[in-house]
Amino acid sequence: MSYIKTKGIVLKEMNVGEADKILTIFSKSKGKISGAARGARRPKSRLIAGTQLFCYSEFVLFKGKDMYSVNSCDVIEPFYEIREDLVKLTYAAHMNEILMDNVQEEQPSSKVLQLFLNSLYMLAKTGKSPDLITRVFEIKLMSILGYAPSVMGCLKCGREDFKDFYFSFEHCGFLCRQCTEGDRYALRLSEGAARAIHYIVYSNMKNVFNFEVSNSILLELEKVSKRYMKDRLDKEYNKLNFLKALK
Ligand SMILES: [Zn+2]
Repeated sequence: MSYIKTKGIVLKEMNVGEADKILTIFSKSKGKISGAARGARRPKSRLIAGTQLFCYSEFVLFKGKDMYSVNSCDVIEPFYEIREDLVKLTYAAHMNEILMDNVQEEQPSSKVLQLFLNSLYMLAKTGKSPDLITRVFEIKLMSILGYAPSVMGCLKCGREDFKDFYFSFEHCGFLCRQCTEGDRYALRLSEGAARAIHYIVYSNMKNVFNFEVSNSILLELEKVSKRYMKDRLDKEYNKLNFLKALK
C-alpha cells in the first residue's frame, strides 16, 4: 500500500455507516479526491476536527483500490467562523458548488486551491463584503479555468482610450460604444466596474482582494459575473438567492 502526504480542504462530507465519513477533498498534490475517514464521527476520533466541511489540513492518505483512506489529518486552518455563521456559510457553499463542478478528479490545480483558500480566509477573518469576495472568486476562477474575458481594450477595434465601456457576453470582453452595434446583449458598464474587472483578471493572487467598490459597482459586477458564468459553464448558481430573500 502506498501513502501520500498532502494539504487539502474538505469540500464535502458524507456520513456512512455508524461512525464513518466519505470526504471529498480538494488536495494540493492530487486535486479533487475521495477519501474514507473511518470512525471520524466518534467523539474521541483523532480525525474528528480535520474532517469537517471547509477544514484545511495536512492529510496522510493511503491509496486503496477504489478511493483513498484518511490515515491522519493535522488541522492547519479550521475556518470555524464560516460554519458558525449562516450567511458566511451560504457564500462559502456557493463558491464550493462552483468549485465542485469545475475541478476534476485527480487533477491538481494549486492556483484554484489558493484562490479558494484566500476567498474563505477573507470571508472568515475580515469584514470585507462577502459579495465582493464572491465576485472576485468567480471572475478570477473563470480566468484560471481558461475563460478570462478580454479586458485590455475594445476587443473589436483595439482602442484602449475610451470610457464608454460595454461588456459583450457574445464576444467575452469589453467593447467600446461604436463596436456594440448588432450586439444586443452588450451591457453598459461604469468605468469603475470596468476597472474592477480588469483588476481581478490581471492582479496576482496575493493582491486580488485589495480593492473596494461602491454598492452600485458591486451590482454591476454581479450582473456580469452571473451571466458570464451561465454562458460559459452552462449552469446558473442560485444558492445566494436565499440570502436576497432574507434582506
Ligand atoms: Zn471598439
